[in-house]
Amino acid sequence: MKVLVATEKPFAKVAVDGIREVVEKNGHTLALLEKYTDVNDFYAAVADADALIVRSDKVTKEVIDHAKNLKIVVRAGAGYDNLDLEACTARGIVAMNTPGQNSNAVAELVMGLLVYCVRNSYNGKSGSELMGKKLGILAFGNVGRNVARIANGFGMKVYAYDAFCPADVINASGLATAVANQEALFEECDIVSLHIPATAETKNSINKALVGLMPKNGLLVNTARKEVINEDELIELMQERTDLKYVADVMPAADAKFRTLFADRYFATPKKMGAQTAEANINAGIAAAKQIVDFFTTGNTRFQVNK
Ligand code: NAD
Repeated sequence: MKVLVATEKPFAKVAVDGIREVVEKNGHTLALLEKYTDVNDFYAAVADADALIVRSDKVTKEVIDHAKNLKIVVRAGAGYDNLDLEACTARGIVAMNTPGQNSNAVAELVMGLLVYCVRNSYNGKSGSELMGKKLGILAFGNVGRNVARIANGFGMKVYAYDAFCPADVINASGLATAVANQEALFEECDIVSLHIPATAETKNSINKALVGLMPKNGLLVNTARKEVINEDELIELMQERTDLKYVADVMPAADAKFRTLFADRYFATPKKMGAQTAEANINAGIAAAKQIVDFFTTGNTRFQVNK
């Protein structure tokens, strides 16, 4: 089988070497399309591929239409909103992500953003500490659990809510105390960290009514997706509530407006940094290759996202 790695923003060389080893050791061949700037190059490269590994590359219906032999596509990473799942399903193509491989990287960045923020962007003025503060984790998935693990080390009081993870599972993890709903999380916590995926349900769901429940000096941190925030309403709220702060690894569409209006209460990384570590890069790429090999060898579809 021919496995194509198509990456506008390539994997680190060590990750590509690892992917190659997994693929070739199992009798498959590897093709590489890196740093492509013309989508037509992607269409041409995918034409005879049986499997496809991408990072944030958009796998649109057009890509799928050009991929006549494609049986499986794996997004090396957690979020998979760059895959057209309908187009994959219509062609019987298995779509997967590689959950958990970059969770620690994202979780460490959350803590970095929090320290940066509560220490006033290191501007020389006295800040505050995270110890003893209440941290609310919205969605207790792979990233959320890692944030909880590290936040406990900081001595924070950790709470969590997840629409699909029961309270007793959250409590039994020993990492966080479950609350009844997301309103309770915002009401209770000094800091809320978002780890929900971008879905029809969650898009725009972080709105004025919800964030407005936060106590005085509330801090919202978003390393999930910009689409989950209702930006117009958050701007309106932050204009009314001059105590609130927002930090993000996923730059808002209205970044310039946030920066102009809330210079000392807003920070966004210039590029999405959450998963940008050597470790996460290698882990996700190699996991993608292993999942493809396993799929061809045993039919394993454990990480399929278009079931
Ligand atoms: P995950 O799939 O392990 O966890 C997602 C959790 O969200 C699950 O526990 C699920 O039950 C819960 N959930 C789904 N819908 C919900 C809802 N409506 N309300 C409450 N909970 C809900 O994913 P993860 O690895 O923890 O990643 C979380 C998100 O973080 C990803 O979807 C992705 O968008 C984002 N992410 C960003 C970066 C980055 O570079 N900043 C890197 C990795 C992931």
